[in-house]
Order: sequence, then C-alpha cells, then structure tokens
Amino acid sequence: MKKTFFLAAFLLISISGIAQDKLKGQIESIIERIEDEHFETYKFLHSHPEVSLMEYETAKKMASHLEDLGFKVTRNFSGNSLVGVFENGNGPVIMLRTDMDALPIKEQTDLPYASSVIMKDASGKQVPAMHACGHDMHMTLWLGTLNTMVTLKNEWSGTIIAIAQQAEEVSGGAIKMIEDGLFRKFPVPDYALAYHVNPELPAGSIGYYPGPIFGGVSSVDIHVFGYGGHGAMPHTTIDPVVLASRIVLAIQTLVSREIEPIQPAVVTVGSIHGGSKHNIIPDRVDMQLTVRFFSDEVYNQIIDGLKRITRGIALSAGLTEEKFPEVIPLEGLTPPVANNPDLVNKGVVSMEKMLGSDLMYGVKPSTVGEDFGKYGRTPEKIPIALFWLGGVEKDKYLDHIENGTPLPGLHNAAFYPDFYPTFKGGVAAMARTMIDLFNE
Ligand SMILES: [Zn+2]
Ligand SMILES: [Zn+2]
Repeated sequence: MKKTFFLAAFLLISISGIAQDKLKGQIESIIERIEDEHFETYKFLHSHPEVSLMEYETAKKMASHLEDLGFKVTRNFSGNSLVGVFENGNGPVIMLRTDMDALPIKEQTDLPYASSVIMKDASGKQVPAMHACGHDMHMTLWLGTLNTMVTLKNEWSGTIIAIAQQAEEVSGGAIKMIEDGLFRKFPVPDYALAYHVNPELPAGSIGYYPGPIFGGVSSVDIHVFGYGGHGAMPHTTIDPVVLASRIVLAIQTLVSREIEPIQPAVVTVGSIHGGSKHNIIPDRVDMQLTVRFFSDEVYNQIIDGLKRITRGIALSAGLTEEKFPEVIPLEGLTPPVANNPDLVNKGVVSMEKMLGSDLMYGVKPSTVGEDFGKYGRTPEKIPIALFWLGGVEKDKYLDHIENGTPLPGLHNAAFYPDFYPTFKGGVAAMARTMIDLFNE
C-alpha cells in the first residue's frame, strides 16, 4: 500500500516536472519567434526618445501594440500614461508596469540607431533626448512579455493590467495614475510587477532583493537667515554664510551619529548659494539637499534632525524665532520601492526555472529612486516587486569583473543594454513568473 502511494507520488511529480519543462520550451520558442520583430520596436524607441511628460508618440505606439495583442486600451488615462486590460477568465489580477520617458542627455554611444533627437521639454526648453535609463528596453520587455502571455493564454487564467507610465524620471507619473483612479477604474491588482535594467549585471540575469530595493528620495530646501552688513564690520552682523557652513558640517552627524548604523541613509547638500559680492555679508543663504532613506521612520528622523540642528545653530548665533532657518521638504517625495518579500521569493522560484540559478543574483538595495514604490503604498496595499534585469554584454561584464574596466551606469550618455540576451532573459523570467502566479 505504502509502496503504491510512493509510486503514485513519484509519477505525479514526474508528470508535473514534464509539464513544467513543456512550459519552459513553449516560452522559449515564442521568444525565438518574436525577438527580431521586437528588436525593430526597440530600435525605433531608442532612436525616438521623448523626455518626461512629452511621451506623446511613444504612448501612441504602446497603445497600438497593445491593441494589436487584443488588450482593451484606455489611452491618455493620466496624461500620456495608458492602461491595457486583458481578461482571460477567472483568476488573479496581475499588473505589469513599464515607464516610457527618456532623459535630457546627448547620446554618446556608437550604436547605428543612436538618438540625435533635440526636442522641447515640458518647460519649453530645447534639450537633447536619450533613453539613458533603459526605459526603451523596459517598454520592449513589457510588450514581449504581454505578447508571450497572450500567445500562451490557454496556460493561465485571470486578468492582466498593463500600464505604460509617463514621467518616471520626474517622479510624477505613478502618483498621477493613482490619483486619477487607476485602482478605482480598473480591477485592483493582486500583484504588481516591474523591471529596471541594471548596468552592472550580465545581460539576461536577474537581481533580486526581498525588501526595500530602492531608496526613498526627498528634495529639501533650507533657507538660512542672518543680519547682513559690511564685510569689514562682521561684529555688527549675524553672518548666514558662517551659519550655513556650520549647518553643512553639523548635519553630517545625522547619518553618522543619529541613525541606527544598519539603516542606510544619505543626506547630501548639493547646492549652496548666498551673497553677491566680496565685501557684503548677505541676509540669507539657500541650500538644496537630497535625502535618501529606506523607511518612513528614518525619513522622519532626518527631517526632524535637520530642523533641530539648524534651529540650534541659529539660536547659538543669537538669532530669534522669526529668523530661525526654514527646512522645507519639497512636494513629490518618492517613497522607497518596498518589495513584498513573499512576492519576490515566488518570482525567484519562477525565474530560476527559466534562467537557472547562475543567472539569479541576490543584490543589495540601491539608493537610487524609482516611483514604482507608490503603487504599493495605497490603501489597497498591493504587493509589489521590482526586479533588476542585467543588461551588460557578456565580454564587457567579464572585462569589468577581471580587469575592473568601468561600465557606464544609468543616466550615462554611453549606457545601452545588450538587446538580445536582455530581451530573452527578461521576457522568459517575467512571463514565467506571471503564469506561475496566475496558476497558484
Ligand atoms: Zn532614471
Ligand atoms: Zn529608470
């Protein structure tokens, strides 16, 4: 009896193993069939970049591709952003997000399809444009994954919400989609997934972190006041240049002495301006800071600390309340991308089936910002997961590892991903993750 049970269990496991392999083969042969056509789309997107809030043509292209795949598309849902819905029976709702915007950078690659675009940005200024953050790759991966999912629609059931988002680089795109009713007007996702291309990992590999993978970003203005006067008579003034200098040094202790050492945080003064002439002590100095953090607690601790330290320095110089420095966190804070650990772990299992364990890299969190985190911070509490997808050509990667040859990072004029392996690995891993989540 026992023996029969084990035999039956063994057979069942083997059969499901064969079914798994069948799905792997199916996904791989679809990718082989579609990769050239998607490379054409990629080259078009790469050579026709549009900077944040100006993604008009890009959005049209995304919408028409989605319609060709059978999605019901809402164009201009939120500015240039669009939403595609593909209903395929009962089951979970999974959101797949791409961003669409390029950067005001003059491309310096030697690609035959390099961008030479000069365009008006949202403020009307003429700027060069380049997909230096890989959002052209994100869009192509997104289309490739959706194409694969539609082709394999008999292997899963549920609903796909495909969103193409404007203005990631200026961090307004995600919040605008949410405020405009993304989760009210369309089915609420059970999971939300996204990629970001990685400039240090080999093409087609995955970098994962089961927690906050990208830091939160906040821009903070500090206005330091004083009493101005003649540069030769400093004793008759309260010099805000000296106060600002003391502030710059004093706030270095926020991260080094106040934040718990195992909590990553950054406080950088990126700009400091005051005064007009050699011999005039000014009334005011303005500072601009960037703050990076991985939890709300640390963020609040930094902002409270900035207020306390700046007030303390003003007080010690003899200033009174009305001349205390102003610490102003600017609107449009980008929260950390707080990956849901369970969802990441499920994704890793699925992705590994397609790529093998050698191409799966557990990575450290990064202090760069990404507005994808906003989709996970609404009252619906949607589990989100953003994965890095390696984009570095194999030889360049090996040269980097063996000889330390630097690799161009994101936002660098020389950055571009190695299309074919990045596309193959990225589509295979994401399509498999989605199918496995639908079939849970
Ligand atoms: Zn970027
Ligand atoms: Zn980006």
